Amino acid sequence: MAKRRMETLAVHAGERRPGPEGSLVFPIYQGTVFSVPQGTSYHDIRYIRLNSTPSQVYLHDKLAALEGAEAAVATASGMAAMTTALMTLLSPGDHLLAADCLYGGTHDFLTHDSARHGWSYTFVDPARPEAWAAAKRPETKAFLVETIANPLMRVPRLDELQAFARREGLLTVIDNTFASPVNFNPLALGYDLVFHSATKYLNGHSDLVAGCLMGRKELIDRMRRTLNHYGASLDPHAGFLLARGIKTLALRVRAQNASALALARALASHPQVAAVNYPGLEDHPDHDAAQRLLSGFGGMFSFRIKGGEPAALRFFQGVTIPYVAPSLGGVETLVTRPAATSHAGMSPEDRARMGITDDLVRVSVGIEDADDLIADFRTALDGA
Ligand code: PLP
Repeated sequence: MAKRRMETLAVHAGERRPGPEGSLVFPIYQGTVFSVPQGTSYHDIRYIRLNSTPSQVYLHDKLAALEGAEAAVATASGMAAMTTALMTLLSPGDHLLAADCLYGGTHDFLTHDSARHGWSYTFVDPARPEAWAAAKRPETKAFLVETIANPLMRVPRLDELQAFARREGLLTVIDNTFASPVNFNPLALGYDLVFHSATKYLNGHSDLVAGCLMGRKELIDRMRRTLNHYGASLDPHAGFLLARGIKTLALRVRAQNASALALARALASHPQVAAVNYPGLEDHPDHDAAQRLLSGFGGMFSFRIKGGEPAALRFFQGVTIPYVAPSLGGVETLVTRPAATSHAGMSPEDRARMGITDDLVRVSVGIEDADDLIADFRTALDGA
């Protein structure tokens, strides 16, 4: 069969034809347990916590197709996907290389919880290959990275990083949440394991929390066993909503790519804006890498507003379309100040070192009309 494109996959991958009772929409199998033949092994029992009921298997098939993976498993949150990955791949004594600009929850898990699992880790600059080689140890097992790092939207040299890991015999684990499978498919570049906070673009409607892992069947089977034991399985109701959200994934993300580029360009020429961080702009430090690796630059960008925190707060009061809120990837545009939300736990010195200044505003672009957004942002900036 010809290779299907994302618009087609998002609608049709995983769908049963005909569906149960002829239904076009795969129903929610609410039952926790199903009868199985005598002698069925524990992990093959059909039970919601064991991630094996019909609604879950359907969702797994859909998720796997999005990343071109052999298999996938859904989890109760993006954090559950990340912890399941690390708890499966790392044993006591193992060492992890991790990008130094990870999502705050992932960063905090490594810094607070690694020791009790007996793992060690080194944060490395994903833009400096010489730092990776220097930090690698005989007991290093894996390299953890994100496709687009919050909030400056840095795009690592993901191809070089994968080549380094392969040479060194390391497994590569990548959080592809910000790019979404529409803009980047890490498995095609040789990455071993992809995870998402499906709370964000995959669902796209800011109305559920979920995560997922995609990769080779053998790896995903191991992930599922860990998940079965720790119990962070996704409820079928949330899974139903997630599958429904995925059907419009490609349409939403392509619109968000286009609007983010238009809005970032418009803000870059506004006198109240000091700088715009968007990999789609020619002056972004990773524009070349993003152009080489990604098929779209994504719906996320950040900008510095002249006048510091007070001006940012006036801007928040002035906008009428976006909500002032953290999180991302939904149909509604959101604006937030990373220094006060996602990176509030860091010391001001660490924030300053990473370029997360008090005047930085992050934008998650929704699917509203781009010209309406530009007009609304301009009016609010004029008054800031
Ligand atoms: N990874 C990234 C890049 C995120 O932005 C988030 C949440 O903001 C997570 C993982 C964690 O996802 P969740 O909130 O679904 O647990």
